[in-house]
Amino acid sequence: MTATMANILDGNKIAAQIRSEVAEQVRALAAAGHLPGLAVILAGEDQASAIYVRSKIKACQEVGIHSEKITAPASVTTQELLAEVARLNQRDDIDGILVQLPLPAQVDSQHVLLAVDPEKDVDGFHPVNVGKLATQRPTLAPCTPAGVMEILLRNHIAIAGRRAVVVGRSQVVGRPMALMLLNHDATVTICHSKTRDLPDITRQADILVVAVGQAGLVRESWVKPGATVIDVGINRVTDQAKFEELFAGDAAREKTFAEKGSVVAGDVHPRVAEVAGAITPVPGGVGPLTIAMLLENTVKACRMRRGRR
Ligand code: NAD
Repeated sequence: MTATMANILDGNKIAAQIRSEVAEQVRALAAAGHLPGLAVILAGEDQASAIYVRSKIKACQEVGIHSEKITAPASVTTQELLAEVARLNQRDDIDGILVQLPLPAQVDSQHVLLAVDPEKDVDGFHPVNVGKLATQRPTLAPCTPAGVMEILLRNHIAIAGRRAVVVGRSQVVGRPMALMLLNHDATVTICHSKTRDLPDITRQADILVVAVGQAGLVRESWVKPGATVIDVGINRVTDQAKFEELFAGDAAREKTFAEKGSVVAGDVHPRVAEVAGAITPVPGGVGPLTIAMLLENTVKACRMRRGRR
């Protein structure tokens, strides 16, 4: 007997919908003389950061948002980056400022992030915007959890009154995720590295969001049958034993692993799809939404700054 498989929540499809909605809004704003603009600051030589920045700039171009990449050498100082942020804060044609993390070790990252004008903080990391999210005011909210909300809402997954469990409490994903679910009237539990009896808690979830950074952490016995499972994790698996534990029998991944020596895996074990009612794949689930929400935040920042809510 084959197990019933969960409904796969296709992040690429929703991201494409959001991008086309954003493109429409960009056209309308541009026609009114307010072309949205995003500036991305990339400091140092981090390869992954360079790739992320390139894909953010490309995504802007595709929807018609003006974008600029500002690069700084690995030796850049906190003062130099603060001066750059101050220049961008002053520019009327720049609606969004994104400081790509990590910054070089000698830079005081918190100081630089705090310097970004909250109205232009398209990552939603500034304490002013975190406070607005916590107090249910209109704001720029962090892109990854905002993308998770789009997946839930656009798939008509009921949130109000449901039990939501968020595993992970980072500033970037877990904490804002919990606030957004609470703002949609879920009963929310936050779990983290010090949580005891984690599977007992995750088993209570109608909606389980996992953002930990450990490949295959969540097993099928941790999940209530029929639950919605959102897997935020993006982990590179290079270890043969770990690969087999996760993907033995998956011909496509076995081929990739043999060719490249690594595959990408989420925080949720693939067998959870046999228990869950709905689940996001990795890749192709939450990942594509993050950049789509950055575009949406840039347009939102433009509208809010111009008083065109
Ligand atoms: P983080 O390292 O900042 O936070 C991880 C959290 O997990 C911490 O709060 C920690 O308390 C908790 N944790 C660690 N071990 C645990 C355990 N055994 N049990 C329960 N909780 C545990 O990571 P992050 O930035 O929140 O990212 C989490 C994952 O999501 C990573 O795999 C990251 O690559 C991925 N991510 C994906 C996107 C996306 O666009 N899809 C965006 C951001 C992060």
